[in-house]
Amino acid sequence: MAAGVEECRMDERYAARIAERREEILGRMDAALTASGRAREDATLVAVSKTVRVDEVVTAIDAGYRVFGENRPQELNRKLEGLSLRPDVPPVRFDMIGNLQTNKINAVLGRVELVHSIGSLHLARALAARAERWLEAGELVAPQSILIEVNVSGEETKGGFAPSELRAAFGELQSLCGVRIEGLMTMAPRGDKDRARACFSGLRELRDELSRESGLPLRELSCGMSEDFEVALEEGSTIVRLGRVVFDPSFAVR
Ligand SMILES: *Cc1c(COP(=O)(O)O)cnc(C)c1O
Repeated sequence: MAAGVEECRMDERYAARIAERREEILGRMDAALTASGRAREDATLVAVSKTVRVDEVVTAIDAGYRVFGENRPQELNRKLEGLSLRPDVPPVRFDMIGNLQTNKINAVLGRVELVHSIGSLHLARALAARAERWLEAGELVAPQSILIEVNVSGEETKGGFAPSELRAAFGELQSLCGVRIEGLMTMAPRGDKDRARACFSGLRELRDELSRESGLPLRELSCGMSEDFEVALEEGSTIVRLGRVVFDPSFAVR
């Protein structure tokens, strides 16, 4: 009994921290958006739930979050199944933000609103071909929305198209049926705000160039994480992907 009550109090405290933290994050997002002449509706906050349990996702939904990101197909499906058992919880959106293997496409296609991490022509072709087949079979209601991941910083450990590679491949990417390219995504170097800023502005400039040349709007720029989301928003980000700052009460704000 006593342990149960104690657990309950901890849950309440956790829920209060998550809700408070959300207000702080939204305030900081507003300030950064205002600084770049934009409004709150111009950016989407994706709460990256890859390290938390389904009940913590439910706590976040209660706090007001409606968009979540996962980086592994198996974990994505664990969350989707867990939430499907909770009819009391309002519907939410999931995005795939992590590296996707071609043999895991079935576990993701049509289950997420947006795949952020299409980092090779090989993956794009495979996803598009599967989507086209599923569309014809009526198993998918709309082309899968995707972002193209770009390795703007050039770090060897990072995935994604090199900018020159993407310029060369864009014609083919644009012609793929079954997917709709909504924009670009990148990961900035960690721990250095100036390098992060250069990475985000580089992504925006590449988007502007590709958009001009292809005629596609490429509206979305998915960039900015817990340590650098304000810089990203100042540089034009439309989607920030926040994990620790959302779910880890001990993550130092600023
Ligand atoms: C984990 C992850 C994030 C969130 O990182 P934080 O630094 O915890 O905010 C964002 N994007 C991707 C692709 C991730 O894998």
